[in-house]
Amino acid sequence: MTYRMHIALISPKGPLYRKSGIFRKSLRYMPLTLPTLAALVPPELSAKVTCIDEGIEEVDFDIDADLIGLTVITGTARRSYEMAAEFRSRGKTVVLGGPHVTLVPDDAQRHADSIVVGYAEDEWPRLLKDHARGQLQPRYIQSPKLDLSNRPLPDRSVLPERRFLTADVFEATRGCVHNCSFCVVPSAWGRRPLQKPVHEVIADICSRGARRAIFVDLNLIANRAYAWELFEALLPLRIQWYGLATTLLCEDLPLLDLAARSGCRGLLMGLESIRPANLEQSRKRFNHPEGYTKIVQLLHDRKIALQGCFVFGMDHDTEDVFQETAEMAVDIGIDLPRFAIVTPFPGTDLFRQLDAQERILTRDWELYDGQHVVFQPKSMSVDALSRGNEQAWQYAYRWRSIARRLKNTAAPFHVALTTNVGYRFYARNLNRFYNCDWMFGASRPDCRRSQPQDRLVAIGENA
Ligand code: SF4
Repeated sequence: MTYRMHIALISPKGPLYRKSGIFRKSLRYMPLTLPTLAALVPPELSAKVTCIDEGIEEVDFDIDADLIGLTVITGTARRSYEMAAEFRSRGKTVVLGGPHVTLVPDDAQRHADSIVVGYAEDEWPRLLKDHARGQLQPRYIQSPKLDLSNRPLPDRSVLPERRFLTADVFEATRGCVHNCSFCVVPSAWGRRPLQKPVHEVIADICSRGARRAIFVDLNLIANRAYAWELFEALLPLRIQWYGLATTLLCEDLPLLDLAARSGCRGLLMGLESIRPANLEQSRKRFNHPEGYTKIVQLLHDRKIALQGCFVFGMDHDTEDVFQETAEMAVDIGIDLPRFAIVTPFPGTDLFRQLDAQERILTRDWELYDGQHVVFQPKSMSVDALSRGNEQAWQYAYRWRSIARRLKNTAAPFHVALTTNVGYRFYARNLNRFYNCDWMFGASRPDCRRSQPQDRLVAIGENA
């Protein structure tokens, strides 16, 4: 077949997904960004599309592509910019898009021939047509009228399915109605959630013959009426599914019951903090720490396992918060607790607040991965925050803590055991997974965990 254009789409690697990391294969599911972008390439361009997830395979900088597209999150921005420079030095046209580009477009602009700000559905095809005509514009900005109806299904064949735990990954909605100060979602895409028509989501699931589905939506219940319609449509499929939702789902028992009946077997919820003042300050006021026990019970009663995520380092955290949080997570039986350092991603309200208080310690985006302390905490030192987070991980994944949580887990025992052992390994090897020497070698000693005296210390995983 003769192609008129060759497009290479690349997802640059971050520390956790580097080739030698624990998520090299077995614990990763297929990301949807590249399959979605590939499907959006207009057929009339007769383009060959090559997709590379750098987390599982090397990038060939001599690839004979006419156009290179890089999807950028803040933690991979530095890597992305380096790759962009390398490709441009070889005469390639480079386009950048993704959350980081949307949050801080001016930061990305100088590293690319063109950037896409916002979602790609309309602007990416327009960019490609302009490029084919030799009229590439420097910036493409998503229209506020974006509609997700009648879009092509993600083309999962562009990535090697065998390298992932599963490719049965689906998206029904985008965005969130809430406005948490640390979250990139309202800052990047506003507070109008978008939905794919339910019948299109169901068609995608059926086309895969999926028996277990993972929804990557950041808040599946952002629009209750839509969530209800989706869960009802899932009922006849008799599948098991996993996704993300806010704690508000546990205040809406009819919707929770329907979710359970439709096959929900696991949810990730951002519990964030056990300090109400932190939740108030970060505008996550609908989380109530005194209700976390009940949330676990309500979910477990319906055979839904909980991955509960906490962040440390908000202004009302003191040095006793780490142990207190970890003990609570074990005591109430959260199936998989996760801990992270709060990260002020650029473009968010949290970043603006900390910047105004001159508490931002670095603008090296490579360290904005949820695994480094990049700001000055209010009530403790940088080192205390870093060590405290590590302490929480290690407490929650001691054998005794795992045994206690496994007693009442809602997940099948072998699944719960395997995932807990995986997280235990992770918790005990944070030093290995979160340093930057894989990328910079000895030239960047400032971000290595082995040097705690430094102000920037690599720490645990972002929630
Ligand atoms: S943290 Fe969750 S609830 Fe808050 S704005 Fe982001 S997606 Fe919505």
